[in-house]
Amino acid sequence: MILVKGYALRSPKSKLAPFEFRRRDPRDQDVVIDIQYCGICHSDVHQARNEWGGSKFPMVPGHEITGVVLRVGGKVKKFKVGDRVGVGCFVDSCRKCEQCKNYYQQFCEKGPSFTYNSTEQDKKTPTFGGYSTGIVVNEDYVLKIPKNLPLDAAAPLLCAGITLYSPLKHWGAGKGKKVAIIGLGGLGHMGVKLAHAMGAEVTVLSHSIKKKKDGLRLGADHFYSTSDPKTFTKLKKHFNLIINTVSVDIDWNEYLELLKINGTMVLVGVPEKNVPVAAHSLIMGRRSLAGSLIGGIQETQEMLNFCGKKKITSEIELIPIQKVNEAYKRIVKSAVRYRFVVDIKSLSS
Ligand code: NAP
Ligand code: ZN
Repeated sequence: MILVKGYALRSPKSKLAPFEFRRRDPRDQDVVIDIQYCGICHSDVHQARNEWGGSKFPMVPGHEITGVVLRVGGKVKKFKVGDRVGVGCFVDSCRKCEQCKNYYQQFCEKGPSFTYNSTEQDKKTPTFGGYSTGIVVNEDYVLKIPKNLPLDAAAPLLCAGITLYSPLKHWGAGKGKKVAIIGLGGLGHMGVKLAHAMGAEVTVLSHSIKKKKDGLRLGADHFYSTSDPKTFTKLKKHFNLIINTVSVDIDWNEYLELLKINGTMVLVGVPEKNVPVAAHSLIMGRRSLAGSLIGGIQETQEMLNFCGKKKITSEIELIPIQKVNEAYKRIVKSAVRYRFVVDIKSLSS
């Protein structure tokens, strides 16, 4: 077994604190990764605080992992020692069900092995995430990071990047399409960069005007505050596609009215409460309300290659692991521009 250092929570009320644990010895098709960076996703905060229920403790969060291959098992074909790699939100799936076969491993019918707060496919062994010095993952669930992207700013692509790329692509963001992104946070700022790179006309709908300069710099064509009621009259029936990245309760009906006929609003943010939807918000424009969950492995690699080609990474604030509890508080206050990334070197200091 491989001894690694990490940071874990012991309960939803506890703070993240040093935690040593073991990773399995590499099997034939495993890649041992020396983790260098790990992004902090708002989902880490939700799960650490058990806001979705069912959290497993001790928990080592982190699913935006980048690093370098340290060792490979005897039958590994896709990776060699020294390769720059990434691991996203899941580390295995059944591989046999219809979803796995269609490259939608995130929807595996037996349940994917999420990178943390989950179990291996034996449904017993707990998984531990990227706030740690190393991880062992089957090669089919490891991604290649393009050579021109720095490993720190590329880390958030593994969750925030794919979570926006997948719906933008699926619902046809591109030239001639008007796309709105609700919330300029970790996910939202990636959405702006990606939708802009795909050729869409991009609007940020933010809860204040404070991030306007940033939004326009990141590639948005327009920026509106949703605290101003005039925004909802001015933008009525305006967008082909709206992606909602916020995890606070908002009135979806108000936003559905901003869609053109046949438009779609996609939820990727996960608010705590259920939100009522009025039938007329959908019917009076043949509108759709949809959801999207990260992306499959092949699509994640496609997104990384796209980001390499377009030189897209995340706007990050690099922090030592010792500042992770403070970072969680700042994420909840929406006081990060735009993604915290933990420098994993700090775990060894
Ligand atoms: P984040 O960095 O905290 O961003 C959320 C954004 O929501 C904030 O930047 C802010 O943008 C907006 N917001 C915050 N407080 C608000 C308020 N009181 N009123 C209105 N808007 C507010 O979070 P994230 O990491 O991007 O994650 C966002 C959500 O997506 C979380 O629920 C996370 O669990 C979920 N998620 C889903 C998937 C998936 O596959 N579906 C994957 C990853 C994460 P403005 O200041 O611009 O309003
Ligand atoms: Zn995430």
